[in-house]
Amino acid sequence: MALIAILAGDGIGPEVTAEARRVLDALDLDLHFEEGLVGGVAYRATGHPLPAATLDLARRADAVLFGAVGDPSCDGLERALRPEQAILGLRKELGLFANLRPAMLFAGLEDASALRPEVAGAIDLVIVRELTGDVYFGDKGRRTGADGLREGYDLMRYDEAEVARIARVGFETARRRRSRLCSVDKANVLETSQLWRDVVIEISAEYPGVALSHMYVDNAAMQLVRNPGQFDVIVTGNLFGDILSDQASMCAGSIGMLPSASLDTGSKGMYEPIHGSAPDIAGQGRANPCAAILSAAMMLRHSLHLNDAADRIDGAVAAAIAGGARTGDLGGAMSTRAMGDAVLAKL
Ligand code: NAD
Repeated sequence: MALIAILAGDGIGPEVTAEARRVLDALDLDLHFEEGLVGGVAYRATGHPLPAATLDLARRADAVLFGAVGDPSCDGLERALRPEQAILGLRKELGLFANLRPAMLFAGLEDASALRPEVAGAIDLVIVRELTGDVYFGDKGRRTGADGLREGYDLMRYDEAEVARIARVGFETARRRRSRLCSVDKANVLETSQLWRDVVIEISAEYPGVALSHMYVDNAAMQLVRNPGQFDVIVTGNLFGDILSDQASMCAGSIGMLPSASLDTGSKGMYEPIHGSAPDIAGQGRANPCAAILSAAMMLRHSLHLNDAADRIDGAVAAAIAGGARTGDLGGAMSTRAMGDAVLAKL
């Protein structure tokens, strides 16, 4: 029996996670669920957004199903106590270094994309972003330069082991899909990127069945909008991945449709919708639960290797959308619960 930690969090987190849980229950898998407090709700109950009991549960669990954190009433707290810090804490403590964000357009949602329908309709890609290194974690600070001017600096760095392990996640992900991997860097200018490219090429020898290509990040940003259908899997560093994954998600329509996974070196992972706690619609039963439901499918696939069950969830969401099920963000008027029902009906 697998232990699933449910960390529903704040705002719409509990509303959408409840629907994901209903879908998992309906599949009658051998899963045991334990709930933990996280985010603003945890701060109010315990004085910390990531209480020790929650961290312990996340460590014990085979996988973590996460809702969202973020609470406007906590905005005045010191940074370490803000709800969003819980995500960073979980990533760090669980060693979650690989972020996977699939972006695809479900048939019927072509008009929800910022792109022309025929361009958007071709989107079916995964961005694999390194999550624990790069310029975000390098030496940083402020200083006064020789000319007396204030300077800010952030060191961009990767070592070869960090690049090799994220490259392998990229190749493995590509191998499960259409076997094409595009590594995105800025090797024409950055030495960090040149090392990145060298190591990715070395690792590619382990994956002869995957076609590897390279693209500079500025071109990748353009190609994601011009012709996103050309991509299968993109692997990239923390900074470039941060920007490109948000760009790709907007190409695919509503934020309420997009799941994500953060993985460690084994099969442990944290699975969450890419959206936040949406305080503007929280408590109204209007949130789209599809991103949370699709996150549960990613969990079954990556952490529990239950591919058939994951496929059933993906198929049920696609069928519900194709059948006209729409929450407000998709231009409809369905409630969160009704959308969950629509997916359950297609399972
Ligand atoms: P958000 O994603 O919460 O909301 C952005 C907009 O999208 C809002 O108008 C919201 O109503 C809408 N939206 C989001 N999810 C939706 C859904 N499932 N169905 C329908 N509409 C949806 O981003 P924000 O407003 O910038 O942030 C709100 C809070 O969430 C902040 O405290 C922020 O720090 C936090 N946040 C948390 C996460 C996370 O938990 N991973 C991610 C992003 C933001």
